[in-house]
Amino acid sequence: MQVAESIAQMKRLRSELAEPLGFVPTMGYLHEGHIALVRRAHEENASVAASIFVNPTQFGPAEDFEDYPRDTKSDLAMLEEAGTDVVFMPTVADMYPQGFSSWVEVGKLTERLEGASRPTHFRGVTTVCTKLFNIVKPTRAYFGQKDAQQALVIKKMVADLNMNLEIVVCPTVREPDGLAMSSRHVYLRPEQRQAAVSLYEAIKFAEELWSQGERNAEHLRQVVTDHIRQQPLAEIEYVSIADIRTLEELETITDSALLSLVVRFGKTRLLDNTILQ
Ligand code: AMP
Repeated sequence: MQVAESIAQMKRLRSELAEPLGFVPTMGYLHEGHIALVRRAHEENASVAASIFVNPTQFGPAEDFEDYPRDTKSDLAMLEEAGTDVVFMPTVADMYPQGFSSWVEVGKLTERLEGASRPTHFRGVTTVCTKLFNIVKPTRAYFGQKDAQQALVIKKMVADLNMNLEIVVCPTVREPDGLAMSSRHVYLRPEQRQAAVSLYEAIKFAEELWSQGERNAEHLRQVVTDHIRQQPLAEIEYVSIADIRTLEELETITDSALLSLVVRFGKTRLLDNTILQ
């Protein structure tokens, strides 16, 4: 496995990689959710690149950019074991040199859910992904269903701008008790970590009602909200049941819907979702 610490070095190494190339962009502090993406990329491509870059432009001014957890040594060991050929770890100065002033923005989809809570977040995500795609030139890029809106926004950007790669979305990997894996769990105190399982329980509850024929979206939102409210440490930011293509909130579900939620435990925001279909 080779490590590229600059854009120039990554471009040099890229020319030696076998086609097709699978690419997994990450912010590091890797867990099994990230590694599942690398394994899938390894299965479906002749070579694999991953990036580790905590992207400052997708964090709001009051968010955790400075404190975002980092552990390069462990990340590199996990990536090597999973079959990565090249790891791209650029510096912030290389990615955003002085005078940087170009942005990629996806409209509409980014105004809802995470975009409503974090107004500049998706502009940072779409801009950094465009840069990474231009530098790494992957055949396919792998994203997690855990960040359902992000996957949708990236797919829309790739389609709208005729980018020459395929986006592959992989299932959410969970802890044994059902909590969706996240690098941010390191912030949780033990009692918050225990209470956090309520997100998964609430999702399961909604899925069960859905499978029994419940199609009233407001009732499903209420069931999820009521379940999580039983945890005094949990503060619900939103519970959404939306159209899986447009993310518009639904009253009645006809064929399918994205149930997504964000719950805060102290300063830590946890996301989870499921597709009802
Ligand atoms: P991050 O490092 O948090 O930016 O995540 C990098 C990629 O890993 C994104 O495509 C995420 O959606 C994906 N990812 C993060 N957590 C999980 C998980 N628990 N299961 C599947 N994919 C995940």
